Amino acid sequence: MIRLLLLLLLIFVIWGFINRYKSRKNVTKIGLMVSCDHCGIFFPKQEALYLDQHYYCCKAHYEENRSKNS
Ligand SMILES: [Zn+2]
Repeated sequence: MIRLLLLLLLIFVIWGFINRYKSRKNVTKIGLMVSCDHCGIFFPKQEALYLDQHYYCCKAHYEENRSKNS
């Protein structure tokens, strides 16, 4: 019976470590932020539009900046 309890405790400890590792991974993912070259808003790099060496939050802002420069 004690063996079973120890096994359950071990599973809980391992589960806790896995959850902590997962949450830490998410923090580093969110940590990658870029700012829009048009409006300056900060957003995740994975959602960014990268065009002409600039980051944009949406296609509309890219188009606006492009028409302003030309
Ligand atoms: Zn923008």
